[in-house]
Amino acid sequence: MSDGRFDVIIQGAGMVGLLLARALAPLGLKIALLDAKPVQRWQGGEWQLRVIAVSTATERILRRLGVWESMARVSPFRAVQAWDAVGRGSVLFDSADIGEPHLGHIVENGLIQTVLYDRLLQDGGLTVSIPAAIETVQADAERVAVTLADGRRLEARLLVGADGANSRVRALCGIEVDQRGYGQSGLVGVIRTERPHGEVARQRFLPDGPLAFLPLADGRCSIVWSQPTEQAERRLALDEAAFCAELTAASARMLGEVQGCGPRAAFPLQRLHARRYIAPRVALIGDAAHVVHPLAGQGANLGFMDAAVLAEEIERACRADRDIGGLGTLRRYERRRKGDNLLMQSAMDAFHHVFGSESPWLAVPRSLGFDLVDAAPPLKAFFMRRAMGAGPDLPALAR
Ligand SMILES: Cc1cc2nc3c(=O)[nH]c(=O)nc-3n(C[C@H](O)[C@H](O)[C@H](O)COP(=O)(O)OP(=O)(O)OC[C@H]3O[C@@H](n4cnc5c(N)ncnc54)[C@H](O)[C@@H]3O)c2cc1C
Repeated sequence: MSDGRFDVIIQGAGMVGLLLARALAPLGLKIALLDAKPVQRWQGGEWQLRVIAVSTATERILRRLGVWESMARVSPFRAVQAWDAVGRGSVLFDSADIGEPHLGHIVENGLIQTVLYDRLLQDGGLTVSIPAAIETVQADAERVAVTLADGRRLEARLLVGADGANSRVRALCGIEVDQRGYGQSGLVGVIRTERPHGEVARQRFLPDGPLAFLPLADGRCSIVWSQPTEQAERRLALDEAAFCAELTAASARMLGEVQGCGPRAAFPLQRLHARRYIAPRVALIGDAAHVVHPLAGQGANLGFMDAAVLAEEIERACRADRDIGGLGTLRRYERRRKGDNLLMQSAMDAFHHVFGSESPWLAVPRSLGFDLVDAAPPLKAFFMRRAMGAGPDLPALAR
């Protein structure tokens, strides 16, 4: 006996699950959205601690979904400057060099969630179940059935796990992962600096992890300071003046003195990749499928691309009157996303290891690498376009 029959059940109302729900809305499918916790709300005022660098491809997706215009606070950045703190090489990626007004925007996670969720509620037709906890998943040739902790049983043609790094859907489907902690945490906060940021995102590759200053529209910066976890914990406990002094030193005064810092938090960093993105009538998207080091600000952008590609494959199946949860649809989704995600993850890993090494043998080549890229405009243009989300086989929403 079923308590609800749907076309698609999306478990996880984070940024990626919500984007998928919105991308599916025009198809007229019956969708259920489940989450263990209420959707994070944005109310303006003080900046939220969690922000992401939204790529141009993601911006295009959000525009096509009719939600970008509702983002009440976005901070464009027109260049990215990176330094090797040991070898002293540096590289500047400037949007003007490729004829673009900017390379991306810094946006609060909670704002993206709020705008997408409000739009979904406005659209109507979505069944939201919060809080909900999936206890079992069972698929057959026709449907996938899930039972919830409160005893309800829901059925659909497709179940999507958008439930983050510790995905319950992934575990219930027995999908194994390759996972490794970096032994690091990303310390985040909002800071005030002596000199203006000029809409440039800055990153210093320190031996124990990269330090990023991300420019905010009000002149302050959001920071992501990757460092050994015990170091991050010690720095979280410092008073504001002592913290600012350590940050000023670590930043080599790239924006002069750090003059103030609001609340801080730290998040453990790991690398995770699901060995399969699909199981019978199940697909994984976003952090449920892959978690990458935040040093290039790509994790959520990859997840948004997963959601856009999966929506495109579902649409294609609908148009051809094929099964939206069938193996053909799911395999096409996996084939289009897995290689790209793995490539990005391996690149981030390589960066992490090369720059995280104190080996003097690596200091010269890595600095040379920065300087060489800096002196090679075509190579710089290639890196910029890739970071902006260009690539082969983009879904129509991102083109
Ligand atoms: C310090 C830091 C900086 C970052 N910077 C960037 C950046 O600049 N650019 C970028 O693109 N990415 C960045 N990322 C990565 C980005 O934050 C993540 O990739 C993104 O948040 C993943 O979104 P998601 O929706 O897949 O998962 P999540 O945000 O984890 O959402 C999962 C949802 O599922 C729900 N859920 C979980 N378990 C269950 C369950 N059992 N039952 C029901 N619901 C459940 C949760 O409540 C949540 O709502 C950064 C990450 C870190 C740590």
